[in-house]
Amino acid sequence: MHLSDILFHHGENREEYYNSVSPPIIQSSNFVFDNLDDFRKALGDEMDSIIYTRGNNPTVAILRKKLAALEKAEDCLVFGSGASANAMAILSQVHQGAHIVCVNNAYSWTFKMLTEYLPKFGVTHTFVDGTNLEEIEAAIQPNTTLLFLESPTSAVLELQDLKACAAIAKKHGIVTAIDNSYASPIFQRPIEHGIDIVIHSGTKYLNGHSDVIVGVVCSSKEIIKKMFYAEFMTLGAIISPNDAMLVIRGLRTLELRMKRCHESAMKITSFLENHPKIQKVNYPFSPNSPQYDLAKKQMDGAGGLFSIHLKTDSIEKVEAFFHRLKKFSLAVSWGGHESLVLPFCTFYNIPGKEDTTLPFNLVRFYIGLEDPDWLIEDLEQALEII
Ligand SMILES: *Cc1c(COP(=O)(O)O)cnc(C)c1O
Repeated sequence: MHLSDILFHHGENREEYYNSVSPPIIQSSNFVFDNLDDFRKALGDEMDSIIYTRGNNPTVAILRKKLAALEKAEDCLVFGSGASANAMAILSQVHQGAHIVCVNNAYSWTFKMLTEYLPKFGVTHTFVDGTNLEEIEAAIQPNTTLLFLESPTSAVLELQDLKACAAIAKKHGIVTAIDNSYASPIFQRPIEHGIDIVIHSGTKYLNGHSDVIVGVVCSSKEIIKKMFYAEFMTLGAIISPNDAMLVIRGLRTLELRMKRCHESAMKITSFLENHPKIQKVNYPFSPNSPQYDLAKKQMDGAGGLFSIHLKTDSIEKVEAFFHRLKKFSLAVSWGGHESLVLPFCTFYNIPGKEDTTLPFNLVRFYIGLEDPDWLIEDLEQALEII
């Protein structure tokens, strides 16, 4: 199916709602039945029936069809957040006593799920250097059920070789899952490389306007059906029909936004790489990246998120650089219209918390939809302090 078809038509049955271009928001929790026979039939096949919005809702159904098609998946489920999508996908693949192999520097709440939550149920884990295939394979134990990837990771932008990881997992009979939030399906479709489960924080690029929290899990019909009756219906972390409509609207411009973010980030990272005050730029599509060849092999672009190491060993200088920035907002998250900065020195000296293991001269940037030259001007003047 053509990308334009997915974004602008697929899943929308306009003849069912007055041929309106924009789908209706079916803001209803409950759906009534005419007779017992129809009701019984629906209850016998809850996944494909519209009974109650915790299971199915017509507006959310449109979104599910589009997202599955974008990831070349057979089906998908939409969750109330990216964190819950990650948690549910992981829960769906473990049992008491199971073991998970997960890459280093995965998203913070994925890390918490593995280190603090799952051990309560006897599920253990090993973190591995995702750039080292031997280390990944060596970490697999007889009770390993899941290889969890995040490529690239969102702080230091490390990639895993998706094809090779999928092959290792298949050889050992274990399932692969990936958090694909960074690239979005516009730039990376892991199922094409043999990965089983693809997860998104749709809060980032898929919605793209910093106004909805949403998560996505895409996979085979079989895996999604199992998840629907177990984690999805039981834990009930759904989105509202209204939020589903906002994400459908966000998807209309997904391709445009991704291309804009990518082009701007290419221009800005190239400026930064040639700047004397910068020690290193982490961006998979930079020709200087040690993983450039791998990035080209499995991604069609990289979007707007990258990080830099400032050439200074003074945390005060890093803070001064940050304070001089005028056009980047200080915040977590990314994937919206607005450019952001997240200096990792923030994670030093937080009362009651241990310092991060990441260096304080590391600064993450997200390039939104503004004019890249306008942003470069700001970086140029701020870098003078280093
Ligand atoms: C933000 C993020 C999440 C969590 O998503 P929420 O929608 O905020 O719950 C998961 N993974 C990655 C890589 C993220 O950036």
